[in-house]
Amino acid sequence: MARHVYSFGGGKAEGNATMKNLLGGKGANLAEMASLGVPVPAGFTITTEVCTYFMLHKETYPDGLRETVHKALARVEKIMGTKFGDVANPLLVSCRSGARQSMPGMMETVLNIGLTSKTIEGLIAKTQNPRFAWDAYRRLITMYSDVVMEKAGGIEPKEGHGIRHQLEVELDKMKKARGVEQDTELTAEDLEELCGTYKAKVKKVLGKAFPDEAYEQLWGGIGAVFSSWNGKRACEYRRIEGIPAEWGTATNVQAMVFGNMGASSATGVAFTRNPATGDNHFYGEWLPNAQGEDVVAGIRTPNPLNEVTRPEGTEHLPSLETAMAKLYKQLAGIRNKLEKHYKDMQDLEFTIQEGKLWLLQTRTGKRNGPAAVRMAVEMHKSKLIDAATAVMRVTPNQLDELLHPIVDPKAEKTATVIAKGLPAGPGGAVGQVVFTADDAVAWAEKGKKVVLVRGETNPEDVHGMNAAEAILTSRGGMTSHAALVARAWGKCCIVGAGAMDVDVAKKRFTVDGKTVKEGDVLTLNGTKGLVYEGELPMIEGSEENPNFTAFMKVCDKVRRLGVRANADTPRDAERALEFGAKGIGLFRTEHMFYGEGSEEPLFLLRKMILSGGVDERKAALDELFPFVKSDMKATLAAMNGLPVTIRLLDPPLHEFVPNSMDERKKLAKSLGIKVADIKARADALHETNPMMGHRGVRLGVTYPEVSEMQIRAILEAAAELKKKGKKPHPEIMIPVLGEVKELADQAELVKRVHKDVAKKYGMRKVPHMVGTMIEIPRAALLANEIAEVAEFFSFGTNDLTQMTFGFSRDDVGGFVPDYIEKGILPADPFSILDQKGVGELVDMGIQRGRSTRPKLKVGICGEHGGEPASVKFCHKVGMNYVSCSPFRVPIARLAAAQAVAEEAAAAGPAKKPRKKATKKGKK
Ligand code: PEP
Ligand code: MG
Repeated sequence: MARHVYSFGGGKAEGNATMKNLLGGKGANLAEMASLGVPVPAGFTITTEVCTYFMLHKETYPDGLRETVHKALARVEKIMGTKFGDVANPLLVSCRSGARQSMPGMMETVLNIGLTSKTIEGLIAKTQNPRFAWDAYRRLITMYSDVVMEKAGGIEPKEGHGIRHQLEVELDKMKKARGVEQDTELTAEDLEELCGTYKAKVKKVLGKAFPDEAYEQLWGGIGAVFSSWNGKRACEYRRIEGIPAEWGTATNVQAMVFGNMGASSATGVAFTRNPATGDNHFYGEWLPNAQGEDVVAGIRTPNPLNEVTRPEGTEHLPSLETAMAKLYKQLAGIRNKLEKHYKDMQDLEFTIQEGKLWLLQTRTGKRNGPAAVRMAVEMHKSKLIDAATAVMRVTPNQLDELLHPIVDPKAEKTATVIAKGLPAGPGGAVGQVVFTADDAVAWAEKGKKVVLVRGETNPEDVHGMNAAEAILTSRGGMTSHAALVARAWGKCCIVGAGAMDVDVAKKRFTVDGKTVKEGDVLTLNGTKGLVYEGELPMIEGSEENPNFTAFMKVCDKVRRLGVRANADTPRDAERALEFGAKGIGLFRTEHMFYGEGSEEPLFLLRKMILSGGVDERKAALDELFPFVKSDMKATLAAMNGLPVTIRLLDPPLHEFVPNSMDERKKLAKSLGIKVADIKARADALHETNPMMGHRGVRLGVTYPEVSEMQIRAILEAAAELKKKGKKPHPEIMIPVLGEVKELADQAELVKRVHKDVAKKYGMRKVPHMVGTMIEIPRAALLANEIAEVAEFFSFGTNDLTQMTFGFSRDDVGGFVPDYIEKGILPADPFSILDQKGVGELVDMGIQRGRSTRPKLKVGICGEHGGEPASVKFCHKVGMNYVSCSPFRVPIARLAAAQAVAEEAAAAGPAKKPRKKATKKGKK
């Protein structure tokens, strides 16, 4: 029978850190810490398999689980020297969830289990601290009635009528009656009375008494944690994060330790490095005389952990380093030990109970993009991790964050700050203010950018946080829920802007006498924690960051796949170089006819298209030639020494025919024909299905003079550059090919023009290559024949996807979303390569191509060339390079490096060379 319970504590553990799937992240790490000798309160983990069983068997447990749990509990009792349910010496436990991937705050926890009307007497006698005991009891009643009796009981109260809220109202009433502000100011007697009030309220509201028996509480807690896996917010979070429902959560039952036993007790959350910046200093927050949830819930403003990381404006708050120096030192030692052991930044929870330090959790800390990059670079530099590990430490999305917009610092200088808070998520954002998560979603669906403003967020808000551009809260610290979630998602976020008075009901907040209402626009600088009224200009993310540069170098060291850019102008070419592209994989000739400075060449192109016969067309081409040549030359010059794949004219010609009367008149005049003739010629070019019509190589076959002009422009540009001592590497690429003879036809043209140009410049060879795009399934199928002529292939996966699926690339918006929603397709195949179908053609095309030309150079220039999963696929099938838009070049470099690291990890540890057996004394 499978084992369902794993114990830890007392310097030993039955599980370890590798068992996350079975024990969840928390359970696996508690076991690991216990084995490392880190002080961990004893406990045991009930496996995720039990959760799955529980879900499938009407919330019942596998046979024998009760006995196993009770045995494990007896072990905890032995280690802790207390007894569960014992009147004189009671053991209290917590029940916490822990899935294999952290889901902060999405599932339930019940603390102080085991406190009953009898055992509380024992706790009071033992601790001599009745106030503490009654406080623990009232927390248990609150949590238990909310989590076990209401939520797990399937009761769905109306908004604002939940039992937790009703009990909080009673607490507020009591504080008001006693004339105090803080919970901590209530006396033991007050709290005892409050517990009575709570119990009566629970019975009245939920129709059942709060259980007064320790084991009943324990099983209630265990069941509630398991059922919270299917709670509303956990399901929502799983949907957003793509976590499978089958994983389940483990339940950790662990001896309670208390941070709220007086002045020598405390609790805190810490990160081994700063999760928002990556700074290599121990970073965290703590509160004296408090329980863990107080720090995370943002109810009290927490104190800084140490002096070096103390945030501005916290000068009046004591750091743990100064308040409890010895314990801080011990904690800092554990920090070093854990980071060295796990070789990654850890997120720790600790509690100090009457001067003794306990670690309650360690897990890999969530971080934002800038922090991820910095930590990867610094950990690699200090030899804590190797290059392959470093590249796996940054997700493509995190890298993208560094390239994200920030508020223009110039504009910030003159703008007025209306509120300040903690910089929980860097970058800038502009949006209209909304006050509820549902509004954030609704507004975002209408295409509006929103900033979600809350007093503090809780897990019920995640869908709105996901939809918002940024999150702003008036309460909470850097470890508050809002900060953790925003960091995980790389969102701009400011927390704890204390001067703001948020009124969610009235959908407004006031700050320094100013009122900001729903729909008003704010600009947030999440890097500095500054809030501005109105919209400030933003500037694009910058790659001029030394950590970014160093990280990209590590990626380049690891990857084998080349990365080029799709660039159509000299300006794009320069940007491509800045982003680290090693060449241009697609220069779309037609782009010179759009945008800035294109008026004249476009006019000439139109003239060429609408000309009456070959002679007229040739005359127009002669006029166009110098423009095309100078464009090619500028790009080849910008990419000096690097390859530039220039694609001959691809789109159907009717795309260039003017529609406006003015343009038509101008053109008619210049061609000496009537406007009606223009219309007639335009109509003649009309096609029913232009995507599969007269385009690509077909243009070159019917109008060889059009190809010839372009080929001549490329070769003359290259010859002139070469003469000036430059290194041009043009690659002439023929698009939309389905048959090798089409290519042979154009290659013949190249040969002829090359002979002319070489002669003209007195050169033996003008550098160039001739190749083709593979973007029609027939080309992939006959790649072996095509490669006999083509010196290179570039997969045009936009068209290849279109032709393989038979989905019009311009019309998929009408049906692909439904396909994704219904699970027919996992994603839009135009953004993420369909590896199963289109990918099979790519793989086959490469293999067949290389069967006749083993050294065939292969790349991709469809949109997929900058999409991480597709880049990894390109690596796997043996391409030489990917090509994508300049802004996606860094992502492609990272994905290419990760492909190598993942490949190595899948292959397992490298085998050490076996030593030859030698006998002592013999050579
Ligand atoms: C392609 O089809 O993938 C491609 C790069 O060409 P275009 O998008 O210009 O058709
Ligand atoms: Mg194409």
